[in-house]
Amino acid sequence: MKLAVFGHPVANSKSPAIHARFAEAAGLAVDYRAIDCPAGALAEALQAFRAEGGSGCNLTLPLKAEGLALAPTASAAARDADACNTLVIRGGRWHADNTDGAGLIADFDRLGIDPAGKHVLIVGAGGAVAGVLGPLLAQAPARVTIANRSADRADVLARRFADRGVHVHGWGLDALTRADPCDLLIQGTSLGHRGEAPALPDSIAAPTAVAYDLNYGPAFEPFAAWCRERGLRAHDGRGMLIEQAALAFERFTGTRPETGPLHAREAL
Ligand code: NDP
Repeated sequence: MKLAVFGHPVANSKSPAIHARFAEAAGLAVDYRAIDCPAGALAEALQAFRAEGGSGCNLTLPLKAEGLALAPTASAAARDADACNTLVIRGGRWHADNTDGAGLIADFDRLGIDPAGKHVLIVGAGGAVAGVLGPLLAQAPARVTIANRSADRADVLARRFADRGVHVHGWGLDALTRADPCDLLIQGTSLGHRGEAPALPDSIAAPTAVAYDLNYGPAFEPFAAWCRERGLRAHDGRGMLIEQAALAFERFTGTRPETGPLHAREAL
């Protein structure tokens, strides 16, 4: 089976290593490659991939919206996210899906984090946050506050998810001094890649709150340090990465891989 991840840049993607481990454990012959593809070139790249026998792929930045636009059909998760991270061939045509949000919830399950009845604060309103909102709201939190540097983007996202039976409110980051303390704090900005954490007031998290950063590796460190200084338990998004990959692998092969071994720190 020929699979791939398309992105730009893509050389440092962990997806080929993760999918190789899944394939090995499942006893499946899978050739999963990383293919560099700049924005605007996905249609042509997918055509070439299909001609070589490619039957499924993952998409990463900057191709997630382009992939959704190219696919004739899409799952509810991809439409909710307005982006796709997984493409599979269905009836001879590409079908778009998004496993990021379900991957986050699977990691919450693994970590014993239950958003039900909680006040959840999400910092950031980009593509990743859009991808996790639907599955998060399905866990029945008491309410969700989205705070973003560009308040209008948080507001647009809150309005898009206003019909899910949970109160969702969009804020500017600078308004957070007025927000109630949250029980679950989700860091979803890309600031960690610049070695920074978002400027959040100390009052933002209840003393018993749990924090989760969608980032992992060095990009997790600034937020991890912010949490440490305030005595907050913080988890990184490496588990989400593994779980969203497992869900994509299932879409590709029909086999749901065991993720336990990959969560060990030395595994990747
Ligand atoms: P986007 O580029 O779509 O969004 C970036 C977000 O970060 C926006 O909310 C943006 O705010 C905010 N931001 C950027 N710079 C600043 C700044 N200087 N000050 C304040 N806020 C800032 O990225 P994604 O949503 O796709 O990804 C977000 C993070 O999540 C990335 O770091 C990515 O690596 C990680 N990720 C992890 C995954 C996993 O599996 N664990 C999966 C997907 C993503 P504004 O709207 O104002 O620009």
